[in-house]
Amino acid sequence: MQITSDIFLVGGPRESDPGDAAVYLIVSDGNAALVDAGTGQGTKRILKNIRNAGADPRAIAYLFLTHCHYDHTGGANGIRSETGCRIVAHELDAEFLEMGDSEVTAAAWYRASMEPTKVDVKVSGREAVFRVGSKDINFYHAPGHSPGSAVLTARSDGKLVLFGQDVHGPLNESLRSERKDYEKSLEFMLSLEPDILCEGHFGVYAGKDRVRKFIESFL
Ligand SMILES: [Zn+2]
Ligand SMILES: [Zn+2]
Repeated sequence: MQITSDIFLVGGPRESDPGDAAVYLIVSDGNAALVDAGTGQGTKRILKNIRNAGADPRAIAYLFLTHCHYDHTGGANGIRSETGCRIVAHELDAEFLEMGDSEVTAAAWYRASMEPTKVDVKVSGREAVFRVGSKDINFYHAPGHSPGSAVLTARSDGKLVLFGQDVHGPLNESLRSERKDYEKSLEFMLSLEPDILCEGHFGVYAGKDRVRKFIESFL
C-alpha cells in the first residue's frame, strides 16, 4: 500500500503475517529504510512487498526499531541478513533485544522467544538524525510504552509523516511501561503537528485534525 510518493506499508497482519505489527518502507534517491520488522514469520512477504514497491531490498541502509516488542522486532535479524542493513534502536530498549529478553519484549505473549538481536546503532539521549538518500529521518526518544520507545519523522510530498508505532500503548508492568513518560511522549507527538500518522496496529491517519484527535484520545 502506497501512503505517499515515497512511503509504503510493506508489512502487517494483512500484508505479511497475522502477528506482525506494521512495517513501513521509506525510499529516497535509490536508498531506503524500514520502520520495524514484524515477528519474522512474514519476512519473505515483506521482502516481496519491498520489491513490488519498486525498491531493492539491498538498498535498505537502516532498519529503525521503534521499540523492543516482538511483533515489531522478531524479524530484525532475518531482514538484516537478507539486506545488509544496520539495525537502529534506542539504547534503553536495545539491551532487551541484545539479551533476547522474552518477557520485556513481550515475545512470551506470542508464545515465542526473542532471538538475541545485536543493535548496530544505539541512539542515546533524546534525538538523532539519519540521512537516507536526500531525506532526513528524525529519531526521537518517546518513552512510556517501553523505556526505549521511539518515534520517527520524515517529510514526504511536503507533509510531515510521523511513525508512532505504539501510540495507543498498552501500558503494562511486565513491559516496564511508565504512564507519566507515556503522557509526555503523547504531548511531544502533538507538538510536532504531523500531517500523517503511521501507526503500528491502527493503520494510517491522514490530516492534521484526524492525527491530533487520535493521539489526544489516549491522553
Ligand atoms: Zn509495543
Ligand atoms: Zn505493537
